[in-house]
Amino acid sequence: MITIKSKREIELLKEAGNIVYRTHQYLKPYLKEGITTKELDRLAEEFIRSQNATPSFKGYQGFPGSICTSINDEVVHGIPGNRKLKNGDIISIDIGACYKGYHGDSAWSYPVGDVNEGIQYLLEHTEKALFVGLSKIKPGARIGDIGAAIEEYATHHHLGVVKELVGHGVGTKIHEEPEVPNYGKRGTGPILKEGMVIAVEPMLNLGSEDIYLLDDDWTIKTDDGLPSAHFEHTVAVTKEGYQILTGE
Ligand code: MG
Ligand code: MG
Repeated sequence: MITIKSKREIELLKEAGNIVYRTHQYLKPYLKEGITTKELDRLAEEFIRSQNATPSFKGYQGFPGSICTSINDEVVHGIPGNRKLKNGDIISIDIGACYKGYHGDSAWSYPVGDVNEGIQYLLEHTEKALFVGLSKIKPGARIGDIGAAIEEYATHHHLGVVKELVGHGVGTKIHEEPEVPNYGKRGTGPILKEGMVIAVEPMLNLGSEDIYLLDDDWTIKTDDGLPSAHFEHTVAVTKEGYQILTGE
């Protein structure tokens, strides 16, 4: 069931989303060579809890971290650990926070120090693909319009679209209906209505779209070992279009 959120619920979702946004800003200066992903996880968890919120991912289906930290050819769901960031890495950080029972969910990919042109290209166009997808959101549009726009943009820029993982509704649960794929056909899928809240989250690869699951049962990696990026915002459908909830 796709739920329509009340004004009050959207205010709470925005507060949760803002905590996620500020957690990203808080982590940014720490994204330097030598820091471990475990340390980033600890910093994020402390910050989220200092805002009277809880990390949505901690313990979610048994996930051991508070945030997901995915480096280079890791697409998503990287488990924080003793691995250190290196100059030239790309790191995708996915953060969820629950405030007064409502969640916010946003992922962002960052360069560590000086990254090569391929990673710069991947970062630029995956972020743009997110906003191309978001631009389709308005009452009466379809979920398929979002995915079609992202897929078209990514394909035009020769980036692989990860299809096994999708965006989703957000509310009192971190993952709600509907699914929001990063591919699809215009004019298909559920109709968007004012008050729906969804997370749009393209995962694009510099090489092929093919991925595999690591032995840890969480980390998803690219088959060809080329880097991957992930950009995600939680947004509310408004009368005119959409409002980003995981922003300032
Ligand atoms: Mg996320
Ligand atoms: Mg998500």
